[in-house]
Amino acid sequence: MHRIVIVGGGAGGLELATRLGDKLGRAGKAHITLIDRSPTHVWKPLLHEVAAGSLDAHVHQIEFAAQAHWHHFNFVRGELKGLDRSSKTIDIATVHGGAFDDKAEILPSRKVEYDTLVLALGSRTHFFGVHGAEEHAITLDTLEQAEILRRRLLATCARKRTAGGNDDVNIAIIGGGATGVELAAELRRMEAGFRKYGLHPNGKSGDIKISLLEAGHRLLPALPERVGQTASSILSELGIEVSVADPVIEVADGRIQTKSGRAITSDITIWAAGIKAPGVLASLDGLAVNRINQLKVGRTLQSETDVDIFAIGDCASCSWNGERMVPPRAQAAHQQAVYLSKALVSRLECRVSDEFSYSDHGSLVSLGPSAAVGSLLHNSTGGYIFVKGTFAKLLYATLYRKHLAAVSTLNRACASLIIHAIRRLTMPRVKLH
Ligand SMILES: Cc1cc2nc3c(=O)[nH]c(=O)nc-3n(C[C@H](O)[C@H](O)[C@H](O)COP(=O)(O)OP(=O)(O)OC[C@H]3O[C@@H](n4cnc5c(N)ncnc54)[C@H](O)[C@@H]3O)c2cc1C
Repeated sequence: MHRIVIVGGGAGGLELATRLGDKLGRAGKAHITLIDRSPTHVWKPLLHEVAAGSLDAHVHQIEFAAQAHWHHFNFVRGELKGLDRSSKTIDIATVHGGAFDDKAEILPSRKVEYDTLVLALGSRTHFFGVHGAEEHAITLDTLEQAEILRRRLLATCARKRTAGGNDDVNIAIIGGGATGVELAAELRRMEAGFRKYGLHPNGKSGDIKISLLEAGHRLLPALPERVGQTASSILSELGIEVSVADPVIEVADGRIQTKSGRAITSDITIWAAGIKAPGVLASLDGLAVNRINQLKVGRTLQSETDVDIFAIGDCASCSWNGERMVPPRAQAAHQQAVYLSKALVSRLECRVSDEFSYSDHGSLVSLGPSAAVGSLLHNSTGGYIFVKGTFAKLLYATLYRKHLAAVSTLNRACASLIIHAIRRLTMPRVKLH
């Protein structure tokens, strides 16, 4: 039986495995395997909410093994380490970690054979070689990192409170793209929660200071100017200090240095400026990659080097409209998963399929519990319309619901929504431990 192996169960990979499992796995037409280094999936655009404690990741995780059982595919846990194209095998690293010993081996290294391989490894933070950034800044690439950030925030507030002084907590976010902007607004929401439950550093108003530092001339450089300006004024209203056109050149313990010579005190520094694909992609048996390790693919999402290997999502470099590249966004990963779930069925049946065509539906950026801003494609005019406020926030909330619906049955998606709503009513506004 034809073996389709998908590596990476994120926004793109999980949806693809689910669709192919339902179409091909269920009918016994192909054997579908999903491989991920983690045992669970959390939709990455939720990570800033996890970091700020406004969303409990445990409630929003999808267990890969259960998903595989429900949707007729096989799940293998482990990290991709190598590829041998001649024998069509991939190498999966040993999995470590146990209840009592993090170094204990749970699963040995293994080889997995494929006929068709899909790489959906996502992306991670790009530090652009800024001195000290990797060592001293926290990132938001994984659920573990989001949890580390949340615990660091709680611990820093607790330490300053116990010290009994008048010390504020200074948080610096580097990068004024969507991730940095959303995180800054969400941290203000967290502050309100801390105040309500008495977890503030020193009880003074404004004792959690948040700075957002962008190297370019405005916030949200990838979105229309009006969206960036609106986000900037909403963040200022929330008491967030926004700095633009002054790149960070060094990150040290407790301090940031900018190009203009400013030294900024920072108890917690978060790096949210730029992405690159995982380094392993540059060492996969000669597969062509670009300068940020993304796998170069053509309009059928096949690797330029090997027609049996495909890539989707943030780890793929795919052109769109000739000169532009498909952006690293959840909506792109979703569209590519939908395209490939059809194209791989056609390929199995020896039919030619159309090329992938990305359609940019616009972007929404969340700015706390009840506000968002963005621009959306107007279907009848083909232009983009500006949206903001509660309406935009409602639209933003539907993005995650759509992802849940895409990887679930209707019953399960509805049950999840009810559970999430009940949890919200019965839990504190922010996670407190
Ligand atoms: C805080 C934040 C907010 C965001 N908000 C938005 C938004 O509002 N809208 C939007 O469109 N996009 C948003 N994004 C971007 C969006 O999350 C990504 O574009 C999207 O998740 C990419 O999907 P993907 O499938 O390529 O990768 P991911 O969803 O990152 O999944 C990659 C998967 O691969 C696995 N993996 C990685 N390396 C290996 C390996 N070597 N072996 C095995 N498994 C591996 C990982 O465990 C993970 O499960 C946001 C991102 C962040 C961080």
